[in-house]
Amino acid sequence: MMNTQLLVGPMLEHAETFFAKKEVISQTHDKLHRLTYKEIGQRTRKLMDSLQKLGVAKGDRVGTLAWNHHRHLEIYFAAPGMGAVLHTINIRLSPEHIVYIINHAQDKVLFIDEDILPLIEKIKSQLTTVETYIVMTDKAEVPESGLHPLYSYEELLAAGDPSTPFSEDIDENDPAGICYTSATTGKPKGVTYSHRGIVLHSYALGLADAAAISESDVGMPVVPQFHVNAWGMPFACTWFGSTQVMPGPRFTPQRLAAFIDTYKVTITAGVPTIWLALAKELSEGNYDTSSLRAVLCGGSAAPLGLIKTFEEKFRIPFYHAYGATETTPLVTFSRLKSYQQDLSDQEKLQERSRQGILVPGLKMKVMGANGPVAWNDQEMGELLLQGPWIADSYNGDDSNNAAFADGWFHTGDVVTVDEEGTIKIVDRTKDLIKSGGEWISSVDLENALMAHDSVFEASVVGIPDPKWQERPIACVVLKEGYNTTKEELLDFIRPQFASYWLPDDVLFFDEIPKTSVGKFLKRQLREQVKAIYSKS
Ligand code: AMP
Repeated sequence: MMNTQLLVGPMLEHAETFFAKKEVISQTHDKLHRLTYKEIGQRTRKLMDSLQKLGVAKGDRVGTLAWNHHRHLEIYFAAPGMGAVLHTINIRLSPEHIVYIINHAQDKVLFIDEDILPLIEKIKSQLTTVETYIVMTDKAEVPESGLHPLYSYEELLAAGDPSTPFSEDIDENDPAGICYTSATTGKPKGVTYSHRGIVLHSYALGLADAAAISESDVGMPVVPQFHVNAWGMPFACTWFGSTQVMPGPRFTPQRLAAFIDTYKVTITAGVPTIWLALAKELSEGNYDTSSLRAVLCGGSAAPLGLIKTFEEKFRIPFYHAYGATETTPLVTFSRLKSYQQDLSDQEKLQERSRQGILVPGLKMKVMGANGPVAWNDQEMGELLLQGPWIADSYNGDDSNNAAFADGWFHTGDVVTVDEEGTIKIVDRTKDLIKSGGEWISSVDLENALMAHDSVFEASVVGIPDPKWQERPIACVVLKEGYNTTKEELLDFIRPQFASYWLPDDVLFFDEIPKTSVGKFLKRQLREQVKAIYSKS
């Protein structure tokens, strides 16, 4: 067979050629844009030309600080398409982490959404490698700014050549993208995505038993483009010619619901907190969501109650998937097998709330204290992964090499596996609670609590205990209008757990602290809980 290279640029070329009329619908700060793939292709080529004129060369890092919109999509293809490296930066990180990431990645150019300019102005004196700033705005004038030199995205495009070719001087193993994990402790860790990894991962997103993304889809990535490339949706949707709907800056649940209704979105992806907010909006508003064939949920465990709400109340198919920044991210996808269709509704829900089975192309093993665990859904072990879209190191960072020992990526996720090979994430290794020598899964307790009608969010943390080493404490946010008590919640979950699993206390919060990508920030929560007890 021919050893042709798997490259990112030609993915857009495919869309320009075969799906020229299909559209990207994109919300920016000031307006809604509708552009065909033909236009997106030409604009991307102009951008490559302008970047070349600005001195961006093969291997240079091109940073983005931006929301989900068409300009961000164009940079997704322009940077790797010319042999440079797309570096998406999480705009919700602390300024110190953003400085660290930009300097560590050695970004030469920064593309910045206009509302994010003030943030970069504050840190500009600490940026050691950036030579050029480019602002993305709909306004004719470049906004007043202390950044220099500062170009306007649209002016650069106007001066670019629409016939600029995608570079062929690229090896498929060359870097195409970089993303830093939003670590909750220590410095963020950088992961490099190769062209080959991105292309193969996109194929995986198209598989019928995974996300099944195709030309007939209208895809709306809600997960930010700065979080693991919006889980690869923009690459796959472009390549396969799906219509794309980009929800833009500071979107609200109302905007998401309205876009689903107006543009007949068929597939969308995001973390559970987004879907909790959307569920509230759909309950209160009047929206037609019948076009949706799949809501993909990952990033943290999808509570069973959430799946049930979407499927039974709104009749929207809801799929649970699992992955990480280091895995591009798709690793497992949860669907029932053909012979599981006869299960009871409750059993089906239970099964689908697990994280699912490995997508083809990857290898896994689950290592317990005494070697590989049995697939009996009882023994717990750490999930280890191998595959063409799994990272083999962190960028320029040997201190975390243990995560890649023996040629496997050690995910830090503790799982059980049932006889079908379906994994269930029990916890992060660091969040698992050890009580009296036995392990307690905070995730299981959270899911059980969130199944109560009055619970909006629940997070369980372990706090030190003189007798048992650690004990679980539940932190709960109630839905508006409820006054549920600790006893009611404990009685509700009691039948599902051994008595030592039951939280020692239930604390009620207005809000649970979250990471920049919407996950429970357990380290901070644990400190808050400890502080509450030390006062009492
Ligand atoms: P990130 O690199 O920020 O995407 O975080 C990856 C981590 O999120 C994984 O290692 C898991 O701990 C967690 N995660 C991702 N998807 C799921 C899921 N479906 N269920 C539970 N945890 C998840």
